[in-house]
Amino acid sequence: MIKVENFESVTKHIVVDTSTQRVSRSCVLGGISLGNYSIAIDSGDSLEVGTAFHKGLESHFKVPVKYLFFTHTHNDHRGGREAFFDSVFLMSQKCRENMPKSVRLSKFAVETFEEKFVLEESDLSVEFIKVSGHSIGFSVAYFPKEKVLFAGDLFIVGSVNFGLPFMSFYQNKPKRTGNPEEYLVAFELFKKMDLEVIIPGHGDLVYDPQKFLKTQTAFFNGLKTHFIAAIAEGKTVEEIDMPQLEPIIKAYNIAEKKKPRSKNIRFLEHYLDTLKTSFYNYYSGKFHQV
Ligand SMILES: [Zn+2]
Repeated sequence: MIKVENFESVTKHIVVDTSTQRVSRSCVLGGISLGNYSIAIDSGDSLEVGTAFHKGLESHFKVPVKYLFFTHTHNDHRGGREAFFDSVFLMSQKCRENMPKSVRLSKFAVETFEEKFVLEESDLSVEFIKVSGHSIGFSVAYFPKEKVLFAGDLFIVGSVNFGLPFMSFYQNKPKRTGNPEEYLVAFELFKKMDLEVIIPGHGDLVYDPQKFLKTQTAFFNGLKTHFIAAIAEGKTVEEIDMPQLEPIIKAYNIAEKKKPRSKNIRFLEHYLDTLKTSFYNYYSGKFHQV
């Protein structure tokens, strides 16, 4: 049985559990307390995880979980939603529109927003901002009082997926892939935020946000330059190799050390291929986003 009892207090009002992701395919689980109620950030990948998460939040903060915020449509973030029947589901309108039909949101209380939504309670507030990039309608949650950003799957940190961004297919839209330009716009927005911690969708918390954002921006810009040049030379996606940028070299080092080695190298290569497709599709203009 999965228990969410490893809540780590990030700040006075914020907790996370990063341990569940090691025993299931769940995302990082996090919550914010606004005094009279709390907000769950994503729900984990299964009802079992969601139930433990919900229970954990209530016993930690001793207030009801009034909102469940979805960063995006993917299953590892929404699979535990049934445990949050008493909560209002909060997500961007685009996220709602792109949820698979099987999710059946009509049985829940749902509140949506177009670009931005602010929850205020006492002297605290949380900002929910749609930035897209990773998937259609993708949004983040920012808690200015304690300078914490829940950035969801825009960032995958540490050894999970070799620390590389997951820019695969947009849910339900197989031909559309992650949008690197939207990532870059989001990074610029985050750089202007007063930040002390970034909580990613998978992996470890980031305690040096500005340095981290600089590295991520450099990586995306490095890939962008590489792909634009290769496409201008008339290369096809098969003819383009991934450039030897720092995060890719690091990813290979992680894969080399993981056991079984050959399986991990194969997975990394498949993963890099998906990243390559995303950049190629976007900069060749062949598959445009909605
Ligand atoms: Zn995820």
